[in-house]
Amino acid sequence: MVKTCFDFVRPSFYLLFPLLFLCASISPSGSDQFVIWNVGQGQWTTYVTLNECFHTDFGGEKFNLRAVSQLCAKKKNLFFPTHLDHDHVGFHAKLSRAFSSHCVFLHEHIIAKTGDTKKKIFHANQCEYKPQYIQILLPNIKKASQQRRVTNRNPTSASVVIKNKIWISGDAPKKQERLWLKHLNKQIDIWVLGHHGSQTSTDSSVLVHLKNLKTIVASQRYLKHRHPSVAALKTLKVRGHLPLLTEHWGNVIFQF
Ligand SMILES: [Zn+2]
Repeated sequence: MVKTCFDFVRPSFYLLFPLLFLCASISPSGSDQFVIWNVGQGQWTTYVTLNECFHTDFGGEKFNLRAVSQLCAKKKNLFFPTHLDHDHVGFHAKLSRAFSSHCVFLHEHIIAKTGDTKKKIFHANQCEYKPQYIQILLPNIKKASQQRRVTNRNPTSASVVIKNKIWISGDAPKKQERLWLKHLNKQIDIWVLGHHGSQTSTDSSVLVHLKNLKTIVASQRYLKHRHPSVAALKTLKVRGHLPLLTEHWGNVIFQF
């Protein structure tokens, strides 16, 4: 059974979705949890098990160390950046100080064109294993890696499937979303929208493929980049979906 909680509960939403369980705080729990943190414009999610916190991305405009520590300070912390844009990895230095026991997953081709300080930072703490409940989908970036300079890292974005139930599609563009469809379990029921709900992501074919989607979340702040876009919202609406926005709801928490 999946329960959904929010940091800030809005009565109007409760009326729309009366079957959802809402709670007002984040607390350690005996069961698995999945959190999409409200970081403003950016992305940071955490899947919490008994012994581990698996973080997909760790960037944004605001950093809620207290809340993350409450869940993860006593666990092993594994960090996976979908790609290296600042709004996805910007908190790395702070996290390194906050969690002495942590490591970062990095696939070489993701940073093939990032021969800078970031590469050194991440190489310092490489994870030695991947949890079995995680499926990492890598991008097809042959064309991107042939370019001399990469000005847009979104095509280099990887994505993550957790327990065949959750898909976090990074900032991958529509074309890549379509290429990944054949790897996506149709039982996935939670989707963290690609590129914060930008018009360059959210391909309609995903919604056709993932027939069991129950909850869609966009990690964003509208005033920064106009995310989610009108185009993405329209695509979702056609299929009967209304996304939860972290900007409105705060941290979104699923309990399994
Ligand atoms: Zn982004």
